[in-house]
Amino acid sequence: SRGYYNAARKAVLEMQPDEVIDMVKASGLRGRGGAGAPTGMKWGFMPKEPTEARPNYLICNADESEPGTYNNHELMLKDPHQLIEGMIIAAYALRVKKMFIYIRGEMVLTAKVLADAIGEAYAKGFLGENIFGSKFSTDLILHRGAGAYICGEETALMDSLEGLRGHPRSKPPFPAVQGLYGMPTTINNVETLCNLPHLVNNGVEWYRSMGTEKSPGTKIVSVSGHVNRPANVEITMGTPCEELVYDICKGIRNGNDLKAVIPGGSSMPMLPKDLFLKANYDFESLQAAGSMLGSGGMIVFDDTTDIPQVCEVIARFYRNESCGKCVPCRIGTDFLHKIIVRITHGQGRPEDIDLLRAMCVNLAGERMMDSRSFCALGDAAAWPIIWGGLKYFEDEFRYWIEHKKSPVGREVGLPAVV
Ligand code: SF4
Repeated sequence: SRGYYNAARKAVLEMQPDEVIDMVKASGLRGRGGAGAPTGMKWGFMPKEPTEARPNYLICNADESEPGTYNNHELMLKDPHQLIEGMIIAAYALRVKKMFIYIRGEMVLTAKVLADAIGEAYAKGFLGENIFGSKFSTDLILHRGAGAYICGEETALMDSLEGLRGHPRSKPPFPAVQGLYGMPTTINNVETLCNLPHLVNNGVEWYRSMGTEKSPGTKIVSVSGHVNRPANVEITMGTPCEELVYDICKGIRNGNDLKAVIPGGSSMPMLPKDLFLKANYDFESLQAAGSMLGSGGMIVFDDTTDIPQVCEVIARFYRNESCGKCVPCRIGTDFLHKIIVRITHGQGRPEDIDLLRAMCVNLAGERMMDSRSFCALGDAAAWPIIWGGLKYFEDEFRYWIEHKKSPVGREVGLPAVV
């Protein structure tokens, strides 16, 4: 009654699968999960004529676990049919007969909401055999993860879905060639798939009328931290970051000054106030400023924040979530955390600054954790420390080491976990 599933019906009954792929390519839609890869290009790698013995699979990556990010969660909790409709459109374009939603284990209520919505869609004939009375059939399976951050990495996710321990696989082969159960697989993020019904309903021109040339459309930014109105906000790509902080999120709490912002989830380097406020919120502009849009999890820090303590919390998270498969990450995340704990507990040594850098990039300038790790988690553990905290706030680390206390008067509130 609210027009849902009209786009899926239109795609299945009035368009050829390749027309849908071409439409997505023309729209310039980029993946909203982190890397920002063009969705249409990714779809183009899938086989056009899957067989019974070698089917294509579609997975919705709903394992949203990046600290600071909660937009997928709200999309699924409050609008589950939008996602299911997007998946039907993608499945039709990619000739997929079996789709999966891999949802983060902790999202218990959301998984129930989705399961109910999937049941409703089956009851209406929008899923299952001959949907909308066409020859196209597709099934949707909801699978709950078990609470491991690494399972948001697409190859670890597939291992987990197959019943194995979630460990990243080497790439190549890429999932479009050898994915789930060794079959061609496309993995898309929740928000990416939620774009599809609107694109099919309103067309490429409408879609491209929002955002920028290289980052078209809108983005749901999960804003948290020291703003007066933390929330999921949907903005057009390219919105000035200053507008995002001061107009949309109503400025900084208690009239404080802005100090720094992590623009795209905790694995992205934080930017100091001036650099962030000069940028626009889109893929290119944030990259030019020295960070990335990532998952859209924007964490705002005011001037009462102790940045080394922030780095300690981030380093602890990646240490805990490292899957342990490769040495640079398994050992590196632990040492990175230990050194930062030492500093923020008044036991830091002057040489610890160089040591921290050497964990990420060694003294000969070679990359260590960053780029030497097996998957992106190892890079993600190093980036916020070396390209964010240390790059812009080295003086705060030095203050801790020299004075054995916080540069902003925030004394140790966390137990030492060395
Ligand atoms: Fe596992 Fe970390 Fe290596 Fe990735 S980088 S495979 S998470 S140990």
